[in-house]
Amino acid sequence: MAERHLETHRSPQSAIAFVSSLQHKASSIIQRAVGQGVEIACKAGCNHCCRARVEAMAAEIFRIARELRGRPAEEMNHVIRRLETHLAMRSDEQAWSRRPQCPFLENELCSIYDVRPGVCRKAHSLDLRKCRTDAAEIPQNLGIVVGIAALTQGTADAYRKLGLDAASHELGQGVLLALSDPTTESRWYDGEAVFVQDVAAAHPRSET
Ligand code: SF4
Repeated sequence: MAERHLETHRSPQSAIAFVSSLQHKASSIIQRAVGQGVEIACKAGCNHCCRARVEAMAAEIFRIARELRGRPAEEMNHVIRRLETHLAMRSDEQAWSRRPQCPFLENELCSIYDVRPGVCRKAHSLDLRKCRTDAAEIPQNLGIVVGIAALTQGTADAYRKLGLDAASHELGQGVLLALSDPTTESRWYDGEAVFVQDVAAAHPRSET
């Protein structure tokens, strides 16, 4: 279905918008599991899983960048400053190894909740105590994990068949690059692996 859709609707805009169907289906898988009695421990304001390296596909990164561009200028500048700080931290190995906070986590909430990537929708826990103690393994529901992994794989394969990069990229750096360089979308749609370029070079740090 993904392949058919991407083949029929050929434009960067459609290819980016299409990733929302993966994200909504991922959320539906979780809701269905909850309806079937799976007890998920995650609650609003709970964000243990937002303190780790977060990755997203190019289409997801562009979807987030598009949503951010629609926000008021002051808010956008605030987001860019947070992304710059996050990027600077990446070069500090010690800071990076201490479970860095996702740059989109603000006041304990996800500031891009409606367009958050599939990996964030897949993350869940069946035991909050394990999250609180940073346990090496967080108990999860197998049906949710497998269902969303299959959806993600199918969607990524469809993008690849069209010659588009569908690998995972670090979220903060990716969004900063997409916001800094408006040509990234069209170059990605032309088959270029745009997120392998040096973000720091493409985005000189703004004055704070
Ligand atoms: S994008 Fe949102 S949900 Fe995902 S890790 Fe960042 S703050 Fe958490």
